[in-house]
Amino acid sequence: MQNVAILGATGSIGKSTLGVLELYPDKFRLYAVTAHSRVKELAEIAKRFNVSLAVTSDPSKLEALKEALAAIGCNARAEAGAEAVARLAASPEVDIVVGAIVGAAGIVSTFRAAEAGKKLLLANKESVVCGGKLLMDTVKRCGATLMPVDSEHNAIFQCLVGETERSREKARIILTASGGPFRTRKDLSDVTIEEATHHPNWSMGRKITVDSATLMNKGLEVIEARWLFDFLPERIDVVVHPQSIIHSMVEYEDGVVIAQMGAPDMKNTIAYSLAYPDRFTAGVTPLKFSQIKTLTFEDPDLNRFPQLGYAYEALKMGGSASIVLNAANEIGVEAFLEGRIGFTDIAVLCRSMMYGFQPPAPTTLEEILETDRQARELARAWADGYSEHRR
Ligand code: NDP
Ligand code: MG
Repeated sequence: MQNVAILGATGSIGKSTLGVLELYPDKFRLYAVTAHSRVKELAEIAKRFNVSLAVTSDPSKLEALKEALAAIGCNARAEAGAEAVARLAASPEVDIVVGAIVGAAGIVSTFRAAEAGKKLLLANKESVVCGGKLLMDTVKRCGATLMPVDSEHNAIFQCLVGETERSREKARIILTASGGPFRTRKDLSDVTIEEATHHPNWSMGRKITVDSATLMNKGLEVIEARWLFDFLPERIDVVVHPQSIIHSMVEYEDGVVIAQMGAPDMKNTIAYSLAYPDRFTAGVTPLKFSQIKTLTFEDPDLNRFPQLGYAYEALKMGGSASIVLNAANEIGVEAFLEGRIGFTDIAVLCRSMMYGFQPPAPTTLEEILETDRQARELARAWADGYSEHRR
């Protein structure tokens, strides 16, 4: 029996994880769950899974969480604050940490889980983008096991299983992208919030759904792949594959391409990550080949979706460019969702931040967090000025 903690249990990935865990009560015990603001939902999850600990990362929500737990007769202990989430990630009670927080808010807990040598099922791609080599070195040094939950990286992980170091060195990663809701739309200047928060193939949280619409999500995934698998950016390609059946591929030097296919359901990648090196069968969505009419592929359009190109540029620039790009994007998406800037302004903000703010490469977690903080502050000022100007 292994104890699991889900960080971000109320989110899309969090809920998919709950859906897998409840099918395997003899293998996993859900020990603790966290959320930020949805404390009522958190309390319901705590009660349903009889967890020992429920944590809200928002300190102002502690009383509300306690009340919500008491109202439904759940005796889970309640804690609050980002430090409580970080403590949980390293807790000796926990064997498996599921990192399903959205955004750079997940960085600290990812590092803590890695430092504590946990099995870490990581969906929070922003922590890989910002943590980069420092995170991967920590994983190695502390004997942690990092299972990528992001479907493309989970696919690449599967395509690389059993390959020698030498064959990996010559291989090429081909990340697939759905292309998002605006793949064929010419003019993106008048995209509405409603349009940008609906994805054709996947049902996900709002931030990643907007990232999928700008292709920033694929850019973040290029950076994520660079660090997770130690591939140079020139050996990472992106191909648009609107059906989202092939989750990604690896091309070897003899021309063989190994592709991982499956239904677009995050429960499948979560189940794979929990079971590895074994396999689970219950609760996974099978692929129905007779229902697939065609599989198509095209190149991404970097003119309409410049943020994908910025990710490659950030890797080339080095330093802290990926952290700055990530922070600018998070603030840009937030401002867009608040109706303060337009859809294409997110890219404008990312670009001006990447070229306008170039701090040196971080050498510690604290430096990563400080760069993220400064970048957010600058990006927020940019977005405020911009929305003022628009009025
Ligand atoms: P959601 O927005 O659905 O959920 C986010 C979770 O994080 C919620 O539990 C939320 O709590 C919590 N949270 C929000 N803000 C904070 C904060 N400041 N501190 C701590 N916790 C916080 O996101 P998703 O589940 O869609 O995505 C989670 C991560 O997984 C992202 O990094 C995303 O890129 C990645 N991912 C997601 C996929 C998907 O299919 N959804 C696919 C691949 C990767 P509350 O509910 O209380 O706000
Ligand atoms: Mg993905």
